[in-house]
Amino acid sequence: MSELVNSPAARDIKYVMHPYTNLEKHKEQGPLIIEKSAGVWVTDDAGNKYIEGMAGLWCTSLGFGEERLVEAAAKQMRELPYYHLFTHKTHVPAIDLAEKLCTMAPGNMAQAFFANSGSEGNDTAVKLIWYYHNAIGKPEKKKILSRIKGYHGVTVASASLTGLPYNHKDFDLPIHNIMHVDCPHYYRYGEEGESEEAFATRMADNLEKRILDEGPDTVAAFFAEPIMGAGGVILPPKTYFEKIQAVLKKYDVLLVADEVICGFGRTGNMFGSETYGIQPDMMTVAKALSSAYLPISAVLVSEKIAEGVSKNSGKLGTFGHGYTYSGHPAAVAVALETLKIYDERKIVDHVKEVGPHLQKRLREFEAHPHVGEVRGTGLIGAIEFVADKATKRSFDPTKGVGAKIMATAQEKGVILRATPGDAIAFSPPLIITKEEIDEMVDRFAQAVTSLADWIPEQA
Ligand code: PMP
Repeated sequence: MSELVNSPAARDIKYVMHPYTNLEKHKEQGPLIIEKSAGVWVTDDAGNKYIEGMAGLWCTSLGFGEERLVEAAAKQMRELPYYHLFTHKTHVPAIDLAEKLCTMAPGNMAQAFFANSGSEGNDTAVKLIWYYHNAIGKPEKKKILSRIKGYHGVTVASASLTGLPYNHKDFDLPIHNIMHVDCPHYYRYGEEGESEEAFATRMADNLEKRILDEGPDTVAAFFAEPIMGAGGVILPPKTYFEKIQAVLKKYDVLLVADEVICGFGRTGNMFGSETYGIQPDMMTVAKALSSAYLPISAVLVSEKIAEGVSKNSGKLGTFGHGYTYSGHPAAVAVALETLKIYDERKIVDHVKEVGPHLQKRLREFEAHPHVGEVRGTGLIGAIEFVADKATKRSFDPTKGVGAKIMATAQEKGVILRATPGDAIAFSPPLIITKEEIDEMVDRFAQAVTSLADWIPEQA
């Protein structure tokens, strides 16, 4: 008895407040305890093996057994386990990583600011936008637009940028000056007979109207993920970013590309911005930057922003922002080694090679009577389940269709993620092989087959 009471599962229920979990349900259901990992596989405490079809949280791009990253961290920790970048201090790994990121990123990035997570990166981006506009004598230009279903994190400012109800409700968010515009999901919001291009034009026209309504002198920036991830793996419609960027340019609104998921190969190019022709003024990166072996993120900024921020700090006496762990040497060393491995192993070429196989396999589900849309590119994709294929009507969210499919897939040995609107997301480690893709999709297919009666009953 006392063994049961003191089991890791019991102690987990008692002591751990889980992120993104129904905490009431957790008391009954308990945790899945993951103990070991190798390659694209993880193993639980009962010895069950799962393909990690989400690379954890879209992040362990080199899989779960990359010894070189372990070595890079250990070596750095022996030499200099900690130092910071405050008050003119620095260390060479941080300099190297900042230079490398600015050199490799699209859009002429001039400087990098380090943080520890995507949320902190986007929070920093918001603060930089406000600080910069004060610096250049445009204190009214402060409003920030992001998109419904966008995901940018959960700190107070980044959760405000996020456009999902459960990140706002009862948290008293979003904060002042952060507001949301259209989600450009053509399948969901395209009108009868409207082409994808015409839909993109309507999105851009709506954005322009919104900027004019708010007053162009008050709108500072627009945040966008190249592909919206946690909101449901939503790809931009054809010509969307071209048209959106023309509007932003016209009204002098900065564009922030949130590359936290898309960055470092996920879409089949090094950055999602390259895949979609985005020239951002700022960019946030995290997750695959270190293959998630240690927490690190970076905000990259263009020359004009770096200069504006610098001048203001000169006037005020300091740039009053920074984290204890901004540029933590071990995290930076792991990130540098990760980027080196991407180069050596030509990770982008690998994604270009195996990505189409994943996309082809996912599209096999288009024939399913309750699949509304299969979407994706590179090594990211989603299968959206609907109550009615003809009308695209979604399932009642209280039926928990996505969650049930995800749980059943887990029983079949593949870990996936149910995103809003019953869209099951796939975002495996970038090192995945074609054979492992087949294994992953086959296991998912078994789960869907085993729910052949249950799914229609929910409609
Ligand atoms: N931006 C995007 C696009 C993300 O997907 C995420 C996390 N899923 C974040 C920001 C927030 O990152 P973190 O969880 O590291 O704070």
